[in-house]
Amino acid sequence: MTDAIGARKRIGLVAHDNRKPDLIEWAVWNRELLVAHDLVATGTTGALLEEELGVAVRKLHSGPLGGDQQLGALIAEGAVDMLVFFWDPLEQQPHDPDVKALLRIAIVWNIPVACNRSSADFMISSPLMTDAYERRIPDYGDHLNRFVRR
Ligand code: PGA
Repeated sequence: MTDAIGARKRIGLVAHDNRKPDLIEWAVWNRELLVAHDLVATGTTGALLEEELGVAVRKLHSGPLGGDQQLGALIAEGAVDMLVFFWDPLEQQPHDPDVKALLRIAIVWNIPVACNRSSADFMISSPLMTDAYERRIPDYGDHLNRFVRR
């Protein structure tokens, strides 16, 4: 099964506090490319992006207050096409389980994920960013049917 993603992508953005300057700098550098898409972010990241980019960003709760989980839910329901998540490799986060869950659910649903600047550069400059794309949805039939008698 595949999911048809149009040229306009729905991009989820999150940055831990120590990584926010890096994400904002990256976003400003790529402003023209980013504003062609719909942006959704955890609360503080989203507020900073709105301020710096001058475009509307859908703001969820702040990450530690449930924003990561909200973003994960949007991915699971097919409402977010890709994730830019600058997580902090050097500092413990109070919401570490949510961080793991967000990264995990992005893999479960096979959406592109960029966790550092160079990955984000490769992602944003891909020709697929301006094209339609058929995202392959993994077949979880075996898992779903494992206890179902026929
Ligand atoms: P924030 O959340 O954008 O509200 O700071 C990010 C996070 O820590 O998950």
